[in-house]
Amino acid sequence: MSNVLKAIKGMNDILPGSVPRKDKLPDSALWQWFETTVRSVLGRYGYQYLLTPIVESTALFVRGLGEVTDIVEKEMYSFTDSMNGDQLTLRPEATAGIVRAMVEHNALYNGPLRLWTLGPMFRHERPQKGRYRQFNQLDVEALGFAGPDVDAELILMVRSLWRELGLVEGQHVRLELNSLGQPAERQAHRAALIAYFEAHADQLDEDARRRLHSNPLRILDTKNPAMQALVEGAPQLMDFLGPETLAHFDGVRAVLDAAGLAYRVNPRLVRGMDYYNLTVFEWVTDQLGSQGTVCGGGRYDGLFEQLGGKPAPAVGFGLGIERLLLLIQELGLPVPDSAPAAYAVIGDAAALPQAMLALESLRAAGVAVQMHAGGGSMKSQFKKADASGARYALVFGADELAQGMVALKPLRDAAATQTLKPLADVAGWAHELRKP
Ligand code: ATP
Ligand code: MG
Repeated sequence: MSNVLKAIKGMNDILPGSVPRKDKLPDSALWQWFETTVRSVLGRYGYQYLLTPIVESTALFVRGLGEVTDIVEKEMYSFTDSMNGDQLTLRPEATAGIVRAMVEHNALYNGPLRLWTLGPMFRHERPQKGRYRQFNQLDVEALGFAGPDVDAELILMVRSLWRELGLVEGQHVRLELNSLGQPAERQAHRAALIAYFEAHADQLDEDARRRLHSNPLRILDTKNPAMQALVEGAPQLMDFLGPETLAHFDGVRAVLDAAGLAYRVNPRLVRGMDYYNLTVFEWVTDQLGSQGTVCGGGRYDGLFEQLGGKPAPAVGFGLGIERLLLLIQELGLPVPDSAPAAYAVIGDAAALPQAMLALESLRAAGVAVQMHAGGGSMKSQFKKADASGARYALVFGADELAQGMVALKPLRDAAATQTLKPLADVAGWAHELRKP
């Protein structure tokens, strides 16, 4: 087996549930259920789908995310295009690419846009449960709206997604909220932070010392337990926020309060990219260890201009699909079953053309029917029917066929009896097989 090729470390196959695997990654049925639910929920809020390339210029992320962010400093998959020497990067997040596309197509010319996309992102991190090198995000952006109404809309939309997926807010996932203020307010806070950390320089770890003058805000996000007390005592941005910023924050909170959505204002909530201002939020869970953030986002009013576009306010979020589905699995939430309605058992090869024709009619009528392919004894075919999870077996036996009939045998209800159905009128009984 030594010459067998394997997937790249930290990059996963998403497979049907019938394929046994050692890790706990979600199966493709769960994945599709999530996608279907997302399409339905986001559609109800008027968000439109778009796709942007997975590869972009490295400069886009350096300019968009900030030079001294974790992502740009050490997590990007960057390479040189061997054809022309261009510096390229596999996208580590979706927002920069979407804003690039909107600027390039002058997309906000006719007014604001609500957009979403979904797909793989790449970050060179240490792989562990809930943290991968290729992972997938649902990414939602509301562009050209100054808020706070649309900030609250995004948060409520995530709540309705949770509800649709069976997650209970406040129990399985909790909302954390903060305001990062405007650049001038952050500047004043930053100066105070640097002064505070300089006064306690002996307590800083190496990471913090390195960031002291480049990005002191990120020190607040440290995971080093030895620095927690120091960080707790640091000057808080909240105390530097002016009336307009506070009014924006109150505007978001008023909608959430009226909607009965509980949240915690977490003054230490900062986000990994430099582009955020005003509202930031995260949906977190206690069930996934240190990979507890399933969804994070906020406002980034400066990004359009930073990427060379006309200034435009914007707000959005990214949701980690693997993390979310791991959570759903871990909680054992009920998920819709993906089994076919019926499994076709075909007695002998001579019956095949007639049987397959009937199956075609059933599928045309909207019924999911799986055919037993490859022959074999009736006994082995019934075993497969049972394992498929189908509610019925459709039995194409010689006796039934001779009468122009197929037998419909309930597999999950011991009290129900087998009935005969006419092959000449499949459309007339197909509805009996559709899921209730
Ligand atoms: P973390 O603090 O866990 O590294 P982040 O702040 O870097 O998260 P974002 O850039 O905000 O994450 O991305 C949005 C969401 O994408 C995260 O909340 C998480 O659910 C998911 N995510 C981020 N990085 C990874 C990864 N390496 N593997 C799987 N999911 C990820
Ligand atoms: Mg990260």
